[in-house]
Amino acid sequence: MTQRVAIVTGGSRGIGAGIAVKLAADGFDVVISYARNADAAEKVVAEIAALGRRGIAVQADSGRVEDNCALVARAVAEFGRVDVLVCNAGTYPYAGVEAMTVEQVSRTLDLNVRGVMVEAIEAARHMGAGGRMIFIGSAFAERVPFANISLYAATKAALAGFARGLARDLGPRGITVNVVHPGPIDTELNPADSAGAELIRGFMALPQYGTTGDIADFVSYLASEKAGFITGTALTVDGGLTA
Ligand code: NDP
Repeated sequence: MTQRVAIVTGGSRGIGAGIAVKLAADGFDVVISYARNADAAEKVVAEIAALGRRGIAVQADSGRVEDNCALVARAVAEFGRVDVLVCNAGTYPYAGVEAMTVEQVSRTLDLNVRGVMVEAIEAARHMGAGGRMIFIGSAFAERVPFANISLYAATKAALAGFARGLARDLGPRGITVNVVHPGPIDTELNPADSAGAELIRGFMALPQYGTTGDIADFVSYLASEKAGFITGTALTVDGGLTA
């Protein structure tokens, strides 16, 4: 079987870990990045190995340009190719306009937007026909159901525009670019048993949090050959939050 290689940013926990393990089960060798939690990253690498694939964990802050470049360079150095890029690392600032700081704005843009852009630009240099780029946005890019998330919503909405443009640039090379907009997914970032979860469930057609597997299964499909006609779009997996 031809070797296929995926990069998943923020792959040590939550949605990213779910995606990394699912892609390994699909036959990919996987490079995951993490910010601080080396132990969690090594656990994911062990799960990937248990599936018979090679996993590598790289400490790389997606908010730093040098780290974005080094992450892709490491994948190419180890495997000689990049077939799938999943940009999942992100931050969820919760602040109203009165409390928001310029530093918070910069940090959120650096991680949620510039990081995705630099990772995509770097990975595009190494992708061939059949390549897949998948950015993890948010249902809050489409609908903002309560206050204090304007910065988050804006940065996640930016990814759809970037994906549409990149899809045009990379389509002639047979590479697809899409965004997935998850609704509430039970992770450490957004626990289903938190105080605010009941409010969020009230906005959903299916009043329950999704699992990391719900997003991983969908990303697995987008990364597969079957999804070769889907590009330049944002696809919502949100339990009807935006319905
Ligand atoms: P978690 O907090 O559970 O996991 C975050 C992951 O990203 C960890 O692996 C963490 O690494 C890594 N990470 C954090 N900061 C950085 C950084 N600066 N550089 C590289 N990696 C980093 O988050 P979720 O799994 O819930 O969220 C993942 C993505 O999905 C985010 O982009 C989020 O906005 C989006 N999303 C989440 C939803 C939800 O309800 N959970 C809904 C919609 C979108 P480490 O272990 O080292 O800390």
